[in-house]
Amino acid sequence: MNTAKTIIMKFGGTSVGSAERIKHVGTLISDSREKIIVLSAMAGVTNKLVEISKHYYDSNLNAAKHCIDELKSKYMQEIDFLYKGEPLRRAVKTFVQEKMDYLWSFHEDSFTIFEEKAVLAVGELISTEMMCQHLNETGIGAVKLPALDFMRTDKYGEPDMQRTEMLLKEQLSLLPQSHIYITEGFICKNAYDEIDNLQRGGSDYTASIIGAVLEAKEIQIWTDIDGMHNNDPRIVEKTDPVRRLHFEEAAELAYFGAKILHPTCILPAKHRNIPVRLLNSMDPSAPGTLISNSIEEGKIKAIAAKDNITVVKINSSRMLLAHGFMRRVFETFERHQTAVDMVTTSEVSVSLTIDNASHLQDIISELKQFASVSIDSDMVSICIVGDLNWKNIGFESAIIRALDEIPVRMISYGGSNYNVTVLVQKEHKEMALEALSTHLFYHE
Ligand code: ASP
Ligand code: MG
Repeated sequence: MNTAKTIIMKFGGTSVGSAERIKHVGTLISDSREKIIVLSAMAGVTNKLVEISKHYYDSNLNAAKHCIDELKSKYMQEIDFLYKGEPLRRAVKTFVQEKMDYLWSFHEDSFTIFEEKAVLAVGELISTEMMCQHLNETGIGAVKLPALDFMRTDKYGEPDMQRTEMLLKEQLSLLPQSHIYITEGFICKNAYDEIDNLQRGGSDYTASIIGAVLEAKEIQIWTDIDGMHNNDPRIVEKTDPVRRLHFEEAAELAYFGAKILHPTCILPAKHRNIPVRLLNSMDPSAPGTLISNSIEEGKIKAIAAKDNITVVKINSSRMLLAHGFMRRVFETFERHQTAVDMVTTSEVSVSLTIDNASHLQDIISELKQFASVSIDSDMVSICIVGDLNWKNIGFESAIIRALDEIPVRMISYGGSNYNVTVLVQKEHKEMALEALSTHLFYHE
């Protein structure tokens, strides 16, 4: 396999959600280009596996059994639709039955996080086997590249790029030659050689890691949407796909809730400068969104919003911000493992935002030892991404002008070359998103 020419194609849960969709993926990958296919579990399966684990934790064996039976009948039905040949059908059913027996085998022992991780891996193992057998039946042909043989995390649970690279290249040299390899997204082994995973939604991450360590030609993330949109289509009336994004722009949008991409996933691709393309399996010829290291100068690209943001305003009890004040503030948040997102300061006070308010009471009581504190909850942060280099003129003022009828609690500009973030109340979210779209994208 010539890895520099290889394309990594990741298909998510809905793209492999039924026999029909699996067949459709088969047609999408049937050309002669060299590729590695990364698959998620069928839609809904990982959630079911989480549910099964919960039942085991609660020692609710009947409920666990019931969920396993539900999963099994779903798979058996899709298998009947998917394969023509009876022997193959039987073979794949046996594979699924073994996995179901494996899931049930956990009822005999105590259930811990280790068992849970093994349970969660089953969805990807099954969808990958189903796809591989389908491609072989249709003559497209594919070789299975088991993720547990090469995908590794380190002792912090982060991808171990070096070991993954070494093991993956080794596997590719040992396996039979093919122009299509198929692997499981999401699952891996950790530093202790136990089955683990890259966190929910992690199959994008798998694709990005493989693309990076192989220095592949391109990483394609296939979903059911035509690329990343310039605003939230669930809220704003008119949106359009964005054709090109810089990695930083895409990461901001993903973090701010553009559900199409897992936020951390593109980092490996960014570091090795491998382009990531978001494509629509329901409309494969549509151009989608290309994410790369190039910036389109002078353009504002997209808007995304994040709900449930809490503002903490901290007023120094002394007149001026004495040195060390900021350090004390940030240390307080650090002690309570709470990430700070936006920060704005004045001479006597600082306002910052958090999206995890679970330790808020403890944080407030500590801050009160040296400052006065007030809280605004139910806020929404809105991120505007694009070429927002400070030397460009007119962009930040266009953003502010768009919001001239809306009370804005905080503005953050200049932290990066790629974004402006504003904070508004929940009740103004829709109005703010519409106003920004109209002014920034659809004005005359
Ligand atoms: N199946 C896993 C999940 O649902 C991983 C993924 O789909 O990306 O989180
Ligand atoms: Mg996903």
